[in-house]
Amino acid sequence: MTAPFPKATIEGYPRVGAHRELKRALESYWSGKIDAETFESAAHSLRLDTYARLKELGLTEDYAIPADVAYYDHVLETALTVGAAQGESLDNEFTLARGNKDTAPLEMTKWFDTNYHYIVPEITDEQAFSARPQRVLKIVEEARAAGYTVRPVLVGPVTLLALSKQAEGATKQPLDHLNELVDSYLTVLAELHDAGVEWIQLAEPALVADLAAADDATLAAALKTAYGRILSAEKRPQVYLTTPYGSLNAGLDVITELQPEAVQVDLSVGTLALDNSYLERVAKLAEATHLSAGLVDGRNVWAANLRDLREKFETLGDNVSVTTSVSLQHVPHTVEAETSLPVDVATWFAFADEKIREVVALSAGPLDAPEAYAQADRAVRTRAESSRTHDQAVQDRTAQLPEGQVQRQPEFAERNKAQEALGLPQLPTTTIGSFPQTAEIRAARAAHRKGELSDADYTEALRNEVKSVIELQERLGLDVLVHGEPERNDMVQYFAELLDGFVVTENGWVQSYGSRCTRPPIVVGDISRPKAMTTEWAKFAQSLSEKHVKGMLTGPVTILAWSFVRDDVHQSVSADQLGVALADEVCDLEEAGIDIIQIDEPALRELLPLREKDRKAYLDWAVRSFRVVSLQAKPETQIHTHLCYSEFGQIIDAVAGLDADVTSIEAARSRMELLEDIDEKFHSEIGPGIYDIHSPRIPSVAEMAELIRAALKNVPVERLWVNPDCGLKTRGYEETEASLRNMVLARDEVRASL
Ligand code: GLN
Ligand code: ZN
Repeated sequence: MTAPFPKATIEGYPRVGAHRELKRALESYWSGKIDAETFESAAHSLRLDTYARLKELGLTEDYAIPADVAYYDHVLETALTVGAAQGESLDNEFTLARGNKDTAPLEMTKWFDTNYHYIVPEITDEQAFSARPQRVLKIVEEARAAGYTVRPVLVGPVTLLALSKQAEGATKQPLDHLNELVDSYLTVLAELHDAGVEWIQLAEPALVADLAAADDATLAAALKTAYGRILSAEKRPQVYLTTPYGSLNAGLDVITELQPEAVQVDLSVGTLALDNSYLERVAKLAEATHLSAGLVDGRNVWAANLRDLREKFETLGDNVSVTTSVSLQHVPHTVEAETSLPVDVATWFAFADEKIREVVALSAGPLDAPEAYAQADRAVRTRAESSRTHDQAVQDRTAQLPEGQVQRQPEFAERNKAQEALGLPQLPTTTIGSFPQTAEIRAARAAHRKGELSDADYTEALRNEVKSVIELQERLGLDVLVHGEPERNDMVQYFAELLDGFVVTENGWVQSYGSRCTRPPIVVGDISRPKAMTTEWAKFAQSLSEKHVKGMLTGPVTILAWSFVRDDVHQSVSADQLGVALADEVCDLEEAGIDIIQIDEPALRELLPLREKDRKAYLDWAVRSFRVVSLQAKPETQIHTHLCYSEFGQIIDAVAGLDADVTSIEAARSRMELLEDIDEKFHSEIGPGIYDIHSPRIPSVAEMAELIRAALKNVPVERLWVNPDCGLKTRGYEETEASLRNMVLARDEVRASL
């Protein structure tokens, strides 16, 4: 008799630990403070504590607990297990992830449309795919010894290859290796079978996305090939195939036909809103195999409407389990760790632990868990009725905006003329905004937060920093200055703390990558700006120089992308509200005498929907919200924007559509190649970064001059700016000063030769 699939489970759980234990262990190990054995034992304790917690929360059945274990990243973990990456030891693994002085790390990129970043395996033509099942076996055995029957989790073969990269010089595409890779999975599965493991989770989220590497039909065909072989293997655990992050198209038919023993689908409100027939289509799958319904939304922080979800659940038949739509790794551990949330608001939230209780209650039903349903009803009602969520004045203001696309007047050409009054030199130099955030600034901020440094002393420290940043830029001879952003802990959180409609958490840490965690603010309701947010700093900085100092704002899309958003209104509603609030800020900056204002939108591409068909609608509202910010700006005010990546492919029209006067982008690493297609689409002035701020290396005058010349092949001299790729926040002062000095010299050299 084989174990049945559990009635209640989750796709995955945060790996960093409620007190960021894994982060601490990783960083202590990397800095040499602890040895490998101590690190492993810390990670081991964290795993067992997690299992205990999950059991206590109600995941009591065998195989209900997913062992989605990874030290650095789960894609890297699977790659190492099936030989899509080579590394025996802990240090090998971390070198792949982080590099060392001789080796560059593997690339890191965004995991679907979340803020998590995974390590991208590189597949060579000779890739051996030698299986290392010990990695999973160890996890299973350690859990067993402690009394838990856990379910090992691997990224499935199709997704692993679809998200991998062709190694340099390779002629084969990663997906061309599917058969060899499946061999390796078969070895791992056979070993697990021999070890008595009855369920394995294979995650195939690639099937819900239209990827550049492979379209829906290609991925569905690959799925058929891979799982046709996996499911006909003699020795294997039962397969739990999961498809988080969106809805399946062609993949759904393939899976229905393949009939793995159990299948997870994402039935979150967000996914069903984009694909409203999905629930019905999935009901057919439930007739073919055991369905695990991902009803509890794993990527937002809102308490579920349990009654509503239970109703959906009941339409799916009786032999259905409940799970989360995606891994809970995208939400913080628990609301219980928050002590200063407004009391009414706290009840509206469900973080990872609360979501597990929701899963259990959904599976039990209202008769068996009346308390949970009553509590959910209360949360839904008080949230809907709260004045915190609905602010009539805000809604009235956005209602006055024109419908559809908005257009700043006059058009670019005329504004560009008006902006000649700024008196900028040919090939103006500038930076992207932040200057190094020194240990002293961070210490001052921490002391201020703890109440050890008075407001006045903290402000004084920041003003001194601004002063020295302005002096430095004057000394270097930069043309358009910045104040350096020392007052900002983070470019999104800073604004979230000053705007109404947001709350921030104390312990709401979410893993961004490796040991790096962020604490995203939460949009709880209609957003407005109680008072000016940046003018004091801008005014102060401007008072220190005769040159122009840029005002610095974070755009609506980026603020939303790096926050938890509402699920009771469409994101475009919040985007418009942010647009209006920031437009008021633009106006105040103008009044304060600032005539160049930068609106950063580094996250514009991040929110791009996974399905092609949804992208236009997204880009329309995203671009609109940016345009709302600059809508009322005076023609003489030069609006800059900044996006820090160089792959513009899918969004180039949208970037041009922002209608900024100056656009700075990342270009150093791609050696200006992107300018070839950019110039025709862009009318704005453009600042392709000429040095890579991700590295401490100081670029020489000659190499930067060469990049400026390369840029001039595609961009006329009167439209070209000279600047680094991105903000300098993570750099040190020494290298920053040397690099910027060389940057100005490079510009001078090119200008002299024109
Ligand atoms: N102005 C911001 C800075 O310089 C922009 C950061 C970003 O693009 N991520 O830090
Ligand atoms: Zn940037």
